[in-house]
Amino acid sequence: MRYALVHYHELTLKKGNRAYFLQRLVRNLQRGLKGTGAGAIERPEGRLLVALPDAADVAEVRARLARTFGVANFAIARWVPLDMDRLAEAVTDTIKPLRFASFRISAKRGNKRFPLTSNQINVELGTLVKSLTGARVDLERAELTIYVEVLDKGFLLSLDRTPGPGGLPAGISGRVACLLSGGLDSPVAAYRMMKRGAHVVFVHFHSHPFVTRASQEKARELAELLTRYQATSRLFLVPFGEVQREVVLAVPPPLRVVVYRRLMIRIAEDIAKRVRAQALITGEALGQVASQTLPNMATIDDAATLPILRPLVGMDKEEIVHQAQAIGTYEISIQPDEDCCTLFTPKHPATKSTVRELEAAEARLRIADLVGMACERAEEVRFAFPPTTSEVVS
Ligand code: ATP
Ligand code: MG
Repeated sequence: MRYALVHYHELTLKKGNRAYFLQRLVRNLQRGLKGTGAGAIERPEGRLLVALPDAADVAEVRARLARTFGVANFAIARWVPLDMDRLAEAVTDTIKPLRFASFRISAKRGNKRFPLTSNQINVELGTLVKSLTGARVDLERAELTIYVEVLDKGFLLSLDRTPGPGGLPAGISGRVACLLSGGLDSPVAAYRMMKRGAHVVFVHFHSHPFVTRASQEKARELAELLTRYQATSRLFLVPFGEVQREVVLAVPPPLRVVVYRRLMIRIAEDIAKRVRAQALITGEALGQVASQTLPNMATIDDAATLPILRPLVGMDKEEIVHQAQAIGTYEISIQPDEDCCTLFTPKHPATKSTVRELEAAEARLRIADLVGMACERAEEVRFAFPPTTSEVVS
């Protein structure tokens, strides 16, 4: 039987959290690997072992492990009885089909009662592999690394480790609501919160029927893609065109962007409270556009009672683009749309706003009514990964 051997960063955890972290990681893996044919999960000494019966789709298992938060790295492994002759046989067998010019052995002794030290195992196996293949040992840049972990139950033998995404298991840190536009930034902001263990509920504002449904389609695609990282998602599609129309009639152009944002925050907060989310997330980065200045962030914060977290605040556009490409949202975000903010947005938004001038402008709006109406008309869409319908599981 083969296994997926999963390592997690245990040492960075406080003692009390460790058991919960592990429990959650195991649950997320059980759920996330559904449909791949992967079997039961064991927990030998600080690692996880996912059984991979012959019928398992190993490529798919690997793809899913590579995006499961909490996974530090993983490899395909097998058990070998605690006997150096059996280990030599297993190594010989494992490397037989492989071609490599350099290699290294990395033995790690979890079981301190085993008579040989890690170094002795390295030397013994290194000599064997050299004599079998003629390859040289290279500790720095080996083409092939052979890992041997000495545990109570046996050796775990594996080759080349694949890095996981790290982070904390999805859902361990509570729930947040992310204001998800169709743009590049907010999906990355959502991802970064997921990586820290937050379960993200999405809130998208659209101006249909004043514009096409393009931005809603993008929001759906983004939410669906990001669901791969957190198993289930809820997306709220909030009609915002009517609100914007009222703002245009009552508020002078320079202040409109911040007024929109404050209204979005109030509406998102209502939804957040409904789904018991404990913070709001935006994709704002300091100085990226005129509206994302420190004074404007302060006036936006003033409209909220929940904390507003901005995971991208210190990132450059280039770094954000890079991350969007890595997680797969980039291609969706760059599709053209008619974002609600392009509809009624002035050319020169104020870069400095004060709570006082905003309150004066907002006095001319029926804030509570607008917020209530938008929340009431919000449409909810749900996503699950892997999809719960059976036809997708082949
Ligand atoms: P993004 O790339 O995320 O669209 P941006 O650089 O275009 O961000 P803004 O348009 O100023 O910046 O928006 C700042 C943040 O406000 C966004 O990151 C997002 O969190 C939120 N936001 C903006 N428009 C919408 C929308 N239509 N629906 C939901 N949230 C939005
Ligand atoms: Mg945008």
